[in-house]
Amino acid sequence: ETLAELDEALIDCRACPRLVEWREETARTKRRAYADWDYWGRPVPGFGPPDASVAIVGLAPAAHGGNRTGRMFTGDRAGDFLYSALYDLGLANRRTATHRGDGLELRGVRITSPVHCAPPANRPTPGERDTCRPWLARELRLLRPTVRSAVVLGAFGWQAVMPALEAAGWSVPRPRPVFGHGARNVLRAADGGAPLTLFGCYHVSQQNTFTGRLTPAMLREVLSAAAEVAGL
Ligand code: SF4
Repeated sequence: ETLAELDEALIDCRACPRLVEWREETARTKRRAYADWDYWGRPVPGFGPPDASVAIVGLAPAAHGGNRTGRMFTGDRAGDFLYSALYDLGLANRRTATHRGDGLELRGVRITSPVHCAPPANRPTPGERDTCRPWLARELRLLRPTVRSAVVLGAFGWQAVMPALEAAGWSVPRPRPVFGHGARNVLRAADGGAPLTLFGCYHVSQQNTFTGRLTPAMLREVLSAAAEVAGL
């Protein structure tokens, strides 16, 4: 299986009834500002090269962001906050992400999420998180030959990614590492392969960026540490 094949299979997934309904209803009703958009309304696959050495793990697509455009963190302020930081570090060729086909390219970075469909109120249930986990585990397994660090945005993603990392072949210590902004943990590969350095970072949601809980400098600091570990 390749990442492209995984992405192809993912976009047909209908395993979570509540999320299928929400993503499709949002695509039908639309936000007024996007009335002329043909919403994506399906699972949003990971974005970035298949040989990435840094993985960024978010939460879930936004109803009028990724669920509208079909690409991770594309078409909302949270995305522009993230891509702006990646641009500053030379890991993206543009500061903003507006639509698929806008020319945005990432260097050595793959962005994904533990839940691939937009949830109501940006809150997936634990059941939906568990249902979507095999997709994340498969993606991480496919990235394993090259990925050396992962930045996890927020506590939900942090909880969700641990079992997926285990399924993908890394050892997660017990007790499990605790989420915090700036948390840094090295996970050994179960088969003696390359370790993965896991970084915690506050999520780039407007709730955090508007209030200054997460500043551009704080995000750049974590991303730059992750890039350094990965040799980018
Ligand atoms: Fe499938 Fe994941 Fe979407 Fe659930 S959230 S329907 S498992 S892609």
